[in-house]
Amino acid sequence: MAFPFLSLQQQQHSLSPLTKTISHQEPQIQRLQNPHLPHLSQPDNNEKDPLEAILRFRKLVSSNRGLTKLDFAPAIKVCSRASALLPGKQIHAQSIKHSLSSDVYVQTSLLTMYSACGELEDAIYLFEKMPERNVVSWTAMIDAFLHSDQPERALAVFHDMQMAGVEPDCFTMVSVVSACAQLGVLILGRWVHAYIKRGGLEFNVFIGTALVDMYCKCGSVDDALEVFNCIEKKSIQTWNAMLHGFSINGRGAESIRLFKEMEINSVHPNEVTFVALLCGCSHSGLVEEGRFYFDVMQKKYNIKPTVKHYGCMVDLLGRTGLLGQALEMVTEMQIPPNDIVWGSLLNACRIHNNVSMAEHVIEKFNRTQEDHPHSDTSHYVIMSNMYLQAGLEEKMAKVRMKVGRKPMGSSWVEIGRNVYEFAVGKASHPMWGKIKEMLIEVTEKVRRENPNQGQEAPESTHSEKVAVAFALLTTSVSTPIRIAKNLRICRDCHDTMKLISEVYEREIIVRDCTRFHQFIGGLCSCKDYW
Ligand code: ZN
Ligand code: ZN
Repeated sequence: MAFPFLSLQQQQHSLSPLTKTISHQEPQIQRLQNPHLPHLSQPDNNEKDPLEAILRFRKLVSSNRGLTKLDFAPAIKVCSRASALLPGKQIHAQSIKHSLSSDVYVQTSLLTMYSACGELEDAIYLFEKMPERNVVSWTAMIDAFLHSDQPERALAVFHDMQMAGVEPDCFTMVSVVSACAQLGVLILGRWVHAYIKRGGLEFNVFIGTALVDMYCKCGSVDDALEVFNCIEKKSIQTWNAMLHGFSINGRGAESIRLFKEMEINSVHPNEVTFVALLCGCSHSGLVEEGRFYFDVMQKKYNIKPTVKHYGCMVDLLGRTGLLGQALEMVTEMQIPPNDIVWGSLLNACRIHNNVSMAEHVIEKFNRTQEDHPHSDTSHYVIMSNMYLQAGLEEKMAKVRMKVGRKPMGSSWVEIGRNVYEFAVGKASHPMWGKIKEMLIEVTEKVRRENPNQGQEAPESTHSEKVAVAFALLTTSVSTPIRIAKNLRICRDCHDTMKLISEVYEREIIVRDCTRFHQFIGGLCSCKDYW
């Protein structure tokens, strides 16, 4: 059964790392260590001191005795772990001298080394030149793309692997599931899940956890829960993935219930658990619960709050309108607040229209940034919009000058087995004429409900609206429209989505860079709280 090739219909520019931005509080899925991978095999004493291991290898080389692939593996492993490119390249050169250019074991190790050092092109070159590739080499190439935020290329390699007739193993499938999670493609993710079941691969905690994470990031929490309940021996990563899933999908009460279940099962929570839990409280406005667990974390579990925990708390207090308490939390932090913490506070000021507090936050933020000025000027965008709303045009103009180039907004929509990408101001889609007509129709219908909506021309429409118009054109009424967006959804688009869900009676799910919005019948699951 061949893997349905994911065709990414791109509009002129390349896919940006969508998933790097989804929730800054995201717990990391445990990195799997493939025991078959030569250089990731049993940890040895060498890895503690990379320099020593490399020196030892150099001694071996100068001893002039014939080296075998077994001499190369530990040395390459050390370079991978330490991201030591230069020694890695020297070892690569030695491997050619020792006629190991066609050895699958050594070549796969080198591939992973280049990938770990961020040299993706070299990894690809090696992979393409390999005379023989086994399941480990294919998986290493999939991982290389995955780790360089190119999940669509990871899936393309998996497709080629199938074409080459190489059977995937559990490690391959974990990577493939993770690629679907990164892309947020539910239909494809379901296909991969069914493939794992049919292929008779062992359902272990690694595959299970990856599936839980995938379903959560594709906005299907119930599917995630079903998989979660099937995992007999759950790891802390499994629990954390499920907790985080509830949180980003605005089901804070359920993340608390799950946390209690963890405690009943004597699972010891870690730092990541509390980030997920507090993030859940914040997305659902559970102030008292959030305060309680922030306390539990420190007193019962002896976990010192990190900047991420503070970020959640500031977000929680700020969103609820307790701006003074949020500011107090920032000033009392044991560690210096970062831009995410300041950003949360500023966002709270935006939600609650508190211009003077926003000015104060920007001033404080700029003072902490003096040593390393920031290229990201999104805080000025927020400030200028606030001035605009408050009618303070002079101040707005001043702030506008400081706004740098905004990151380009892109949206992806999954239709059948294809993913289509749309970027603002790019009218290059072959169906653009039809899409434009649809946008005009949508705008008319929406404005009948709310005359203030949809003021812009089709060409300058935000990408998520274009994606919705395209989906309305190409899918049936019963299909939910799933969109992923690289930036935070703006208020106008958010309001428009609500109206479209009502006027066209369509379910629309938008995953922006912080959370999910599920629009049904004119309402959003975030309760306009984001
Ligand atoms: Zn917008
Ligand atoms: Zn929403």
